Amino acid sequence: MRLCIPTSWDNDFLDRLAAMQTPDSRVHELFGSLAVSVIGSGREAFIVPDVERDAVREHIALAHKHGFRFNYLMNASTMGGIEFTPQGRADLVRYIEWVADIGADAITVTIPFVLELIGDVAPHIERVVSTIAHVDSLAQAAFWKGMGADRVTLSLMINRDFSVLKSLRKSSGLDLEVLANELCLYMCPYRSYHYDLMSQGSQPGACAPGTYPGLCCSLDRMKDPAEFLKARFIRPEDVRLYENIGIDLIKIAGRGRSTETLLQIAGAYFGRRWDGNLLDISDISMYDAPGVDRAKIYIDNRKLDGFVETMATIDCRRCCGASCQMCGDVASKAVRIEGLEEYKDALEKARGALVTTGAKPSIVNKYQSPTPRDLPEDPPETKD
Ligand code: SF4
Repeated sequence: MRLCIPTSWDNDFLDRLAAMQTPDSRVHELFGSLAVSVIGSGREAFIVPDVERDAVREHIALAHKHGFRFNYLMNASTMGGIEFTPQGRADLVRYIEWVADIGADAITVTIPFVLELIGDVAPHIERVVSTIAHVDSLAQAAFWKGMGADRVTLSLMINRDFSVLKSLRKSSGLDLEVLANELCLYMCPYRSYHYDLMSQGSQPGACAPGTYPGLCCSLDRMKDPAEFLKARFIRPEDVRLYENIGIDLIKIAGRGRSTETLLQIAGAYFGRRWDGNLLDISDISMYDAPGVDRAKIYIDNRKLDGFVETMATIDCRRCCGASCQMCGDVASKAVRIEGLEEYKDALEKARGALVTTGAKPSIVNKYQSPTPRDLPEDPPETKD
């Protein structure tokens, strides 16, 4: 197994991460980006560290000393067309040149035009397609390969479709990576919109944090806790299933989490076991609702042994919501929620107010965020 891990930008993180590696479980690369840039990334500026350019350069150099590659994120799903204006294009080219100059080994993108532009400006850099591009078929993989991609982080939604994963491994001709610990809703209807909002929220001049999607998915999980298990996470214990079909690059989500939390998550995957609450090693949006404590949610990872193997025999696209109730049955044993009704009601009210009056709830996202932050009043600024 080779892990791709978000950096906390704490240089001490590198020493501690290096010491955790084992002969068969190693760090492949770290990833991250400036909080705000001309293209931004797939996370809003206010939830990731506000790191300076010089610190980024120094951190990448230190990562290289530890033998870690660095994958720089330019994986916004939209630039609103600014990339086709003379100024926008020039800014983007300068930004790619800077990323090449600071020693990035790879760049992750979602926008096809940006992938092609990187090939023109910095052809020596590995080009990785983000999971945000939602590659879930051989046909899509072939398009990206034709445009010059070297690697694809596959759509989260096919994490348990082993027949599709096998055919991609056999015939795509690309390096493949799977995202392990993100608990987005299965077939999430808000996902594309959420990424668009987060992308714009990491670019200059963003209007307001994209509250709506995370509020909705938090509420949907409270309405039906089976949604926690329908999510396509890969537990540390289940990494071997992917290695068995030739996919050993495992991506860990968690930009904006503390050094300690990221080390905890990495430790679980290096050790291939987690005896505790699955949410403690997951990246998930669970919004605070005004006036109530967030529900205490516990997903007993030990009760999920064998769960994915069984799910792999089910065609979820055809029978979820109709003939199959397996996730609900397992959730009734593995998921405990204290304060569910009160939290659910508060989320419902907050969503209703957002839709009917535009009132933004005073909230932070990020379940168990170590350093919850206030929502920003002003648009983010670039660090030139
Ligand atoms: S089809 Fe069954 S196993 Fe698949 S997500 Fe739905 S409830 Fe879970």
